[in-house]
This record gives sequence, structure tokens and C-alpha cells, in this order.
Amino acid sequence: MAEPSEVRIPHLGADEPVEVVEVLVAAGDQVSREDSLITLESDKASMDVPSPADGKVLELKVKRGDKVKEGSLILLLEAAGEPLVESEEAGVSPKPGQETTQETPQEPAQKPADPRQEDTAKVGPPPVAPPAVKVESRAFDVALVVIGAGVGGYTAAFRAADLGLAVTLVERYPTLGGVCLNVGCIPSKALLHVADVIHEAEALDARGVSFGAPVIDLGRLRAWKDEVVGRLTGGISELAKRRKVKVLQGRARFLGEHELEVASDDGVETLSFGQAIIAAGSRVVKIPGVPYDDPRVMDSTDALELPDVPENLLLVGGGIIGLEMAMVFGALGTKLTIVELLDGLIPECDRDLVRPLEARLKKGMGAEIHLGTKMTSLESLADGSGLVAQLEGSGGSKSATFDRALIAVGRRPNGDLLNAGAAGVEVDERGFIAVDRSLRTNQRHIYAIGDIVGEPMLAHKASHQGKVAAENAAGENSAFDARVIPLVAYTDPEIAWVGLTETDAKANGTVFEKVKFPWAASGRALGMGRTDGSTKLLFDPETKRLLGGGIVGLGAGDLISEVALAIEMDCEAADLALTIHPHPTVSETIGFAAEVFEGTITDLFRPKR
Ligand SMILES: Cc1cc2nc3c(=O)[nH]c(=O)nc-3n(C[C@H](O)[C@H](O)[C@H](O)COP(=O)(O)OP(=O)(O)OC[C@H]3O[C@@H](n4cnc5c(N)ncnc54)[C@H](O)[C@@H]3O)c2cc1C
Repeated sequence: MAEPSEVRIPHLGADEPVEVVEVLVAAGDQVSREDSLITLESDKASMDVPSPADGKVLELKVKRGDKVKEGSLILLLEAAGEPLVESEEAGVSPKPGQETTQETPQEPAQKPADPRQEDTAKVGPPPVAPPAVKVESRAFDVALVVIGAGVGGYTAAFRAADLGLAVTLVERYPTLGGVCLNVGCIPSKALLHVADVIHEAEALDARGVSFGAPVIDLGRLRAWKDEVVGRLTGGISELAKRRKVKVLQGRARFLGEHELEVASDDGVETLSFGQAIIAAGSRVVKIPGVPYDDPRVMDSTDALELPDVPENLLLVGGGIIGLEMAMVFGALGTKLTIVELLDGLIPECDRDLVRPLEARLKKGMGAEIHLGTKMTSLESLADGSGLVAQLEGSGGSKSATFDRALIAVGRRPNGDLLNAGAAGVEVDERGFIAVDRSLRTNQRHIYAIGDIVGEPMLAHKASHQGKVAAENAAGENSAFDARVIPLVAYTDPEIAWVGLTETDAKANGTVFEKVKFPWAASGRALGMGRTDGSTKLLFDPETKRLLGGGIVGLGAGDLISEVALAIEMDCEAADLALTIHPHPTVSETIGFAAEVFEGTITDLFRPKR
């Protein structure tokens, strides 16, 4: 007779003890490999512990209600056939989602139980659920599948691979990188840099340096932008190869809780998966009745192709994405007309931060801005000479003809395109998928990240979430608990804000003290000829802690990181004021604003309070 084998609790991904809620076998029972032995449950999740081998249960070492941890002894097993070996295969089940086939890289041999782990007194509730939710006792084609290779998806895939999971990344397009790299953040910022340089060069005229009107070769500009995109997306493919992340091109849709179909020109493939991360992103919102089949009607993706430099352009939607693209066309010489339904551009931002941008658009670029105005119709002229828009607003109605129109009225999540119901994943009526702090959906083995889980739809949120989801899928105990997410409009001037806004503070009755440092008092801003900026900080008057901040001015998008870090670190005004900022920089304006709060500012004259 073989020596009895000890069957112990596998890796749980969390140090806290979990409860045995069900004992599924009794002494004397014959069990097969992968049969569930006991069920564990924390306040967030449950998992079955499978038998590592065929055999007979000799003695149970746990009972219902016991608290156990990784390494705790469950039972003694008289294994039939092959003796058990001290490995993941014996006694410790694979990490959730890891393939259970022989080829799968296995965890190192089981660690002996640490006696200190039996001390439950010091352990509080875990911040998020232990990772393994329902360990399926079957082998899957792929351990972890990530749907969508945008910034969220490829980050998740790479992090999971780095943590030892076998990962398949499914992307419907031939290039990786999703919206951000291909038709979003990166190409738009490349073009905005060109727009900034054009504006800078024009501004030098007033300081005695003239370059003459720019000569624009659209073909070369496009090629340069495409090269930037190509280098980045190519780099992502290379990184996937090096990490042995399998990339599958095709459109994914769920067939079941653990089943996916991937359709491509080459045919349809089905695959089973242990865990999934949904990172399928978002798409542009279309306005009904708009003639999108007319190539002069553009969304942001079309606009990034720079088909030509129209004499005049109608921008429908005064949000960040539309305004950034409008800045590019404006710099190239297009006359802009901007129509926004609400009563301000970038409505989610404080008005004082938006005002310098509005002034620059109107006075510096000659743009017409119609706020509180709706485009009620857009028609293509039969002779191909333009587009006629009907605009209705508080100032009356007006009809105008444009060479091109850019419709940028928002993005909607792709939750409705995945047949998620087949996997039991709930999608709301707008297409968003709800997740908890561990980024699990209502199906505990399926995660969702990025644009598809809600606002703000931003690349840096997606990538951070990608890491959290991957870490949990790999058995770690990770939570998306960012206090703040910075927002940036890369317009000219840039606008960036983070944390509490003045508008929200007033609306929800938060007590705050506002301080502002005007860039007109910054030597660096003066030297750059850009005194149209300001730095605003909101503090809690009692604790002096930083609650939020907003910056408008050249490079605000880079400057806002300090404010975000200060909020995350619970900084008080003195922390910012006493941090020595290099001189002369516009970063000093953050320290100066904190000095205004502290009453120590010398770069401004403040009458005594
Ligand atoms: C013009 C523009 C400029 C922007 N600028 C910025 C910026 O400066 N900063 C910023 O933070 N954010 C910016 N954004 C937003 C940013 O691009 C998104 O927040 C980010 O791309 C979201 O990442 P994601 O991974 O969630 O989704 P996505 O990037 O949308 O990636 C989703 C991927 O999933 C794929 N996919 C979808 N469905 C399936 C399926 N069924 N099967 C297989 N694959 C599928 C898609 O093809 C796509 O590649 C901008 C967006 C636009 C449009």
C-alpha cells in the first residue's frame, strides 16, 4: 500500500484565512482526480479545492466552519496508481486560469504550512476577494484570454504573462494598440505638436523673428504621423512576442461561460478559457440623420487621416477630442465653427480653466463658437460643393455651409458587441460592464477594464486597470483604488485637472479654500510669451490637505502629475510649498499656489488678512 499523501490548501492569493463552508467528501470515499473535496468561501468569493489524484480518503483534517490558509492540511489520501509528488499537481491546485495540461508551467513545489499563518487574530477582512473564484476542474485551451489589444488589453496581457500565466490576446484588427495608439492619443498628439510649433513660430513675429507662412505638405505630415504610430504598434507586437503572448486576430464573441468564438477572414475558431479579461473599448457615438456616407463628414478617426485642409470646418461637440482635432485644422489654416449643445466648452471642467482656451480660439484663431446650440440637420449639397448645417440655439436659428464637418459627440462602450450574455456577464443598457474593485464582473472568472467599464474613458485609467485585473487573474490580491485620475485637454493652451473641481465642490457643498497663481507672475511663462495660464489648488481649510487642482497653460498636462501625486500622498499645503521647485519653471506655480494658501508667498503681493 502507498504511503498516505497529505492534501493541502492551494495558493489562494491572499494571506487572510478563509472559511470551509462545505466538506464534500467523507473518510472512506473514493475520489477521482479533480473531484471537489471542500468549498472555501471568503466574504467576496468561493472556490472548490479539487483532489490532486484518484484515491481513497483516509482521514479528514478539516470540518465545516474551520478557517484555513494556503498550506493547511485538508485530508490524507491513499492515492491509487501513480504516487503523488510534491508539486502543484499534488496537493496544490493550479493558480486560477492556469492551464492544467502537462505543458503548463507549474508552480514551484508546495511550501510547508507556515505555523504563523494559523494566527488569525491579526488578520482583518481582505481588501478584495481572494483570486480563485471557481476553479474549474477541466483543462482549457487557454488559461487567460484577453479580448481587445488596446492600451488596457495589451497591458493586462503583458502583466499576466510576466506573472506566469499562459495568455492569448484576441484583437479584431491586424495592428495592436487599439484606439489610443492607432487612432487616438498618439496620432492626435503628434499632430498637435505640429500645430503648437506653427503657433509658436507665428507668435515669434511679434518678438522680431519671422518665418513666413508655413508650407504644408500633407502627404509628409501624414507619413510622419503614421511612422510614429507604426513604431509604437510594432513595438507592442514585439513585446508580445518576447513575452510569448499568443496573438489571435479576429472578432471575439462569447459562446458560454468558458467559451469564446474568434471569427476572422480565415474562418471561425472556438476556444475554451479559464479566465478572461474584457478590454474591448469603445466606439464613436453617431448622430442619427447625419450623412456619414459623405466622406466630408468625419469622425475623429477620419480627421486624423488629414484628408485635406478644408477652408472651413464645422465641429459638432465642444469636448476634448473634438477640440484637439479642431486645433490641428485651425493651425493648418482652417476657419473653425464650433457648436456645443451645453453652455460651455469641455463642460466637465471648471469655467475659469476653459476661458483662456475659448479666448485663444476666438481671438487668436478667429473661431466662431456657438454654445447652447444644437445642430438639427446636416445635408450634403447635391452638387458636391459642401455640407449645409442647420443650427438652433438661444441666439436663434441659422443655416451655414461648410467644406467639412467633424462630429465628435462622445464615445460609447462596446459591451453590446460581445454576446456577453452567453457568458453570463451583465452589460447595462449603455454598453458598460460593471466591475468591483478587483475588476471582476458579476462572473467572477471574467474581468473587464478600460473604456468598457465606465468613465473617464482614458488610456492611463485603462492601463492601470489592466495591471490590476492581470494580477488578480494570476492569483494576486490587487485592487483598483486610485483616488484620482487626471484629465488633460491637449489644446493650446493645455488644460489639466485632477481630484475635486471647484464646480463639483460648490455643487455638493464640500468646504474648500481656493488659491490661484496667475502665470503672469511667472518669469518662465513671461519668457515664453505665454502668460495666459494659471494654477489653481483647492485645499481643505481645516486639515490643509490638497483636494484638487487645475492648471491651464503650456504643458499643463505634464504639470498636473505633481498635483495628482500630492493628492494620492495626502499632502498638505506646506508639503507643496516647502518642496523646492526648480527656477525658472512653470512647475514653480504649483509651489507658489501652495504658498498663497500658507500666506508665505513673496512673488505676489497679498494684503494682510
Ligand atoms: C481621437 C482620440 C484621442 C484620444 N486622446 C487621449 C489622450 O490624449 N489621453 C487619454 O488618456 N485618452 C485619450 N483617448 C481615449 C483613449 O484612446 C481610450 O480611453 C483608450 O484607448 C481606451 O483603451 P481600452 O483598452 O479600454 O480600449 P481601446 O483602445 O478601444 O481598445 C479596445 C480594443 O478592442 C478591440 N476589440 C473590440 N471588440 C473586439 C472583439 N469583439 N474582438 C476582438 N477585439 C475587439 C478593438 O479593436 C480595440 O483594439 C483618445 C481617444 C480618441 C478617439
